[in-house]
Amino acid sequence: DPVLYLSARVAALPEDLVVILADDLTASHRIEATRRDFVANVSHELKTPIGAISLLAEAVEDAADDPGAVRRFAGRMGVESARLADLVSQIIDLSRLQADDPLAEPQVVDIDDVLHDAVDRCRVDAEQRGVTLTLAGAHGARVLGNARQLSTAVGNLVENAVVYSDPGARVVVAAHTRAHAEDDDVEITVSDTGIGIAPAEAERIFERFYRVDYGRSRANGGTGLGLSIVKHIAASHGGKVGVWSQVGRGSTFTITVPAHLAQVRAADHEGRQA
Ligand code: ADP
Repeated sequence: DPVLYLSARVAALPEDLVVILADDLTASHRIEATRRDFVANVSHELKTPIGAISLLAEAVEDAADDPGAVRRFAGRMGVESARLADLVSQIIDLSRLQADDPLAEPQVVDIDDVLHDAVDRCRVDAEQRGVTLTLAGAHGARVLGNARQLSTAVGNLVENAVVYSDPGARVVVAAHTRAHAEDDDVEITVSDTGIGIAPAEAERIFERFYRVDYGRSRANGGTGLGLSIVKHIAASHGGKVGVWSQVGRGSTFTITVPAHLAQVRAADHEGRQA
């Protein structure tokens, strides 16, 4: 973004002294532009399934005396409505996330619970797709943050690992604590032996609404918001996301967040005294 936006206030002081206060508005302009893009994208993304549903409704009316066609159109209306429902719930998730800061009223979060929760949500889907889902444990990892948000983030990764895999694939979910001088980092990994992602695509998959243009992504009817939600949650916990992938071999996604060890220990201490 090469443009620098400045707001200047000029105040004439008694001794004919002029003071110019310049604020860098670049960041706020960028936020505003991102918000505008988001609203434009949301409208576009919502119009697609809504348009499809109304066309299909017309088609059903026209095909009233062809029961086979009516069934086909009704089935596709079901798919489009489900897609619309996913989109709306993920857009609501995103706007909720933007409103609450997980570190404003942080809890001590047991990562084992987070992983269990995320894996439980995907178990039925994994079974139906013939994918083996394994929880390798969190080894007692704990962080300061918001348990619900972290479950959402890990759940999105597990869901993708299951969806972008073929029958017979394996998905492993684990967490490790890495000690550093000042604080521990907790690294949550979701590995799959699925279809993988090409390097050029891997750079873009965390963008809102970005979907790899494989028939696979289209066919699964996702929203392209899952990974941007993961990235947002990691960032608001002071952490980051990463991906390693090879086409045809699989992918490993990681969420790395600071444990905020000192506060976790202080909370333990308070808990014991209470
Ligand atoms: P969605 O899954 O709804 O399309 P996401 O934001 O969750 O949106 O993911 C963006 C894209 O990244 C997907 O469309 C898919 O092509 C790719 N992707 C995400 N996770 C994986 C994975 N584990 N293996 C292969 N491709 C993946």
